[in-house]
Amino acid sequence: MGIHLKIPRNHVRAHSLKKREAVIRAEEKGILAKAGLIAHGRGEAFDYLIGETSIPPAIFATKAAVASLILAAHPVISVNGNVAALVPREIVRLSKVLNAPLEVNLFFRTRRREEAIKSVLLKAGAKEVLGVGRDASATIPELFSERRRVDPRGIYSADVVLVPLEDGDRTMALKRLGKFVITIDLNPLSRTAQSADITIVDDIVRAVPNMIEAYKELKDLSREELASLLTRFDNRKNLSEVILYIRDRLKILSEGEHL
Ligand code: ATP
Ligand code: MG
Repeated sequence: MGIHLKIPRNHVRAHSLKKREAVIRAEEKGILAKAGLIAHGRGEAFDYLIGETSIPPAIFATKAAVASLILAAHPVISVNGNVAALVPREIVRLSKVLNAPLEVNLFFRTRRREEAIKSVLLKAGAKEVLGVGRDASATIPELFSERRRVDPRGIYSADVVLVPLEDGDRTMALKRLGKFVITIDLNPLSRTAQSADITIVDDIVRAVPNMIEAYKELKDLSREELASLLTRFDNRKNLSEVILYIRDRLKILSEGEHL
């Protein structure tokens, strides 16, 4: 067991420390690979730059993402160790409201980790979890070894996939398979962020509840209205907005202002 700190509630980094605790625990329980801890750290650094809040371009991307998931014929939500560690209940809730199945989708696939993530999701209220064991029998062409395995009933046959914290090679492979790819990634410069159709640059801990809220707002819109929201969304332009937001924020901070 690792050392678990008692985090005072008013600590300035309380939210961030709680998330660290959650990923450390998940690693100890075999839910998260060690590399997942490092990925978390990279995310934290970008969260610091955006100010640990859901910025306007993230909210816009969240709405576009939910619109495309509502319009999808066969939407699927991918779950890896970081997602299971940080937002198990929220991702199950999102899967239910969108009627989009959950699929365990791992960069470092081991049977033990697949089962550990499945059991976290079942405990959080999921009825079914795809992509475990022999269910992950389809392969994404051009990818090597265990990284390419997906469920034929899930990601393989999906039209729209939500792949939070995904790897760049796999995102590009999903694009080549003709999928409409939505990601949640704090790094606006990652290959995943740059190659997805919709990139929500936000912490998954804020983004998934925001998606559930956006669903409530959008669920009664017509298909035409949802489609027009999507037409107005341009991922390149939105990522530029994120980078400009960071630039402007750093400029203000560099001038000695406190935000
Ligand atoms: P890519 O392979 O897309 O070029 P990468 O190799 O830099 O990206 P990976 O480790 O493959 O990064 O993917 C993890 C991504 O998840 C990182 O870009 C990181 O910023 C992001 N990330 C980590 N924690 C969170 C979080 N809590 N919420 C959202 N994004 C996160
Ligand atoms: Mg990567």
